[in-house]
Amino acid sequence: MFLQDFLYSIRFRLLASLFVLLGLSISVSMYGIWTGERDRQMDIARKEAMQAGQIIEKALRTAMLQNNRKAIHQSVDDIHAIAKPAVLSILSFDGTVAVSSDRSMVGSRFNRDIDPSCVACHTTKGMLPLRTAVFLETATGPVLRNIIKVPNGPECHGCHPPSQKNCGILMYDVPFSDTITMLRTVLIRMAFTGLISFIFLILVLSFIIQRYVHRPLHQLMEGFIHVGSGNFNHWVEVNTKGEFQEMADQFNVMSRAIQRSFVEIKGKSWETTSLYTFVQQLSRAIEWDRLRRLITELLYETFNARHVVVCLAREKHDQTVYEVSWRQADDQRYHHRECALRMDFKDLPFCVISEWERWRTGELLSPCFNENDTRVFLPLDSKNISLGLVCLQREAGQRFSGAEKKLIIAVGEQLGIALANARLYRMAITDALTELYTRRYCETAIRKFIETHESAPEKGFCILMLDIDHFKRVNDTHGHQIGDEVLSQLAGLIRTSIRHDDVACRYGGEEFLVLVADGLDKGKESAQRLRQIIENHVFNSSTAPPLDIRNTISIGVANFPLHGGTGDEVIGAADQALYVAKARGRNRVVCFGEESV
Ligand code: GH3
Ligand code: MG
Ligand code: MG
Repeated sequence: MFLQDFLYSIRFRLLASLFVLLGLSISVSMYGIWTGERDRQMDIARKEAMQAGQIIEKALRTAMLQNNRKAIHQSVDDIHAIAKPAVLSILSFDGTVAVSSDRSMVGSRFNRDIDPSCVACHTTKGMLPLRTAVFLETATGPVLRNIIKVPNGPECHGCHPPSQKNCGILMYDVPFSDTITMLRTVLIRMAFTGLISFIFLILVLSFIIQRYVHRPLHQLMEGFIHVGSGNFNHWVEVNTKGEFQEMADQFNVMSRAIQRSFVEIKGKSWETTSLYTFVQQLSRAIEWDRLRRLITELLYETFNARHVVVCLAREKHDQTVYEVSWRQADDQRYHHRECALRMDFKDLPFCVISEWERWRTGELLSPCFNENDTRVFLPLDSKNISLGLVCLQREAGQRFSGAEKKLIIAVGEQLGIALANARLYRMAITDALTELYTRRYCETAIRKFIETHESAPEKGFCILMLDIDHFKRVNDTHGHQIGDEVLSQLAGLIRTSIRHDDVACRYGGEEFLVLVADGLDKGKESAQRLRQIIENHVFNSSTAPPLDIRNTISIGVANFPLHGGTGDEVIGAADQALYVAKARGRNRVVCFGEESV
């Protein structure tokens, strides 16, 4: 695998190409230099031999004209003694060696059609050259043979007839082995120098390719690997200038752009998912109290807040009541409190009074983040009706990100819608004067109680029917307005006295139903407790001077399924029991079928 990677790498391909190219170019230039030098050396040798031949010819001419064979031999030997190891021979007209410094050659004959010394000229048509030189490979080594014709001039006609063109041929053999040896030495040196240069060049090129091509490419490649694995913070730095530097810069710009887009997409995805979850959870709660708690818990968990305070405004008998719920990091419980006065806000966790005041006076209409983006005041409204204010506080240094800030704003809008719906629902199911559930909701609640009983039929449940004793007198004595206030206060006593699972409704004018999620004994107990609380309570008006009104109630108790198989039957039974309680003297609890409790 490693070998395959190496073979396909740019470094290897560049080096291999350069290796071949350099090898070829060095070989070609070496060959050119070598052949040029060889030819030059041979040319010099040929010229030198030719000059020597001419001198020898001139030197022999006198002895030849005298036709003094002994003098010719002597001259040939003398020249040979000087020009050793060159061999000097004189050929007669028919190619027979007449005189030679190499005595063994005397008498031998050259065949002009076969001998390589002769064919060069004798195969050429037309005028034969006066002199020529040929290279021959002989048994003793390479030889440069210089062939000089001795022309038949008038001075020679004494011995040679005028019809004869040449008197003979002078042959001067110069051994060429020294030159060849010298050329071989040159060739070896050139090859050695070439090889050294080649190795040196390859090493230099390897370094250059490694430093300026392979390393920057490798650094870029590392960058791609980091980006591919999702690490956009990797910064590619190449220690070279030029195109690779530009590529690295562009790569860094590109990876930052991808990172920004990635963060944006991630943020958007988180924003969408969180908002979807938020809306999904909100849609499960329509009841005001449940929704208020849900909002507090969801905000606390979704935004990893240190403090969450949800303050909801609620109109109650011509005054605004603030329902404040909160969660904080060092206390995992959910808190809830009703505040009627501005002063009550002071002891809320991390409350910034100025911001609350701005919201209460209608100045804070849009989300307001602090300088560090660690706290936000988020007003909640729907169709220009102010519904509440949320305050989210994070630990110091844990800023809300851009995506979180967007989500907070989007969540604020959804909370406004959910609260507006819950407000409408609350208005639909609660009685405005007493803030108890309406009679219609009571019917729904009874159906739910019956369904619960069907799935867990242990105890059933009880219906308490309450009626204020002689209430007409309150109206007649203090007027209907005070009567209303007494009704409202009495309803408040019922609401705060019953258990969490019980349901209290205003059934008629001054008649109430309480559904007790328990058996008959517990139902009777609850009825007695209620009766006693109201008996002991002193009612007063907020406007009038102290009136010290005292009221009692009568209660009829019936149980499902003991006293009826349907809601209406049990209500009817409770009504009958109430009738008995009234008849027996009021301010008492009567169970259906019993005299009294
Ligand atoms: P008792 O039940 O003990 O027999 O005497 P009672 O005086 O309460 O008699 P009853 O229940 O028949 O009268 C109901 C009275 O309650 C009549 C009405 O004046 C009064 N009432 C009913 N609804 C309201 C209301 O919303 N506001 C006020 N102020 N009074 C109401
Ligand atoms: Mg009544
Ligand atoms: Mg009454």
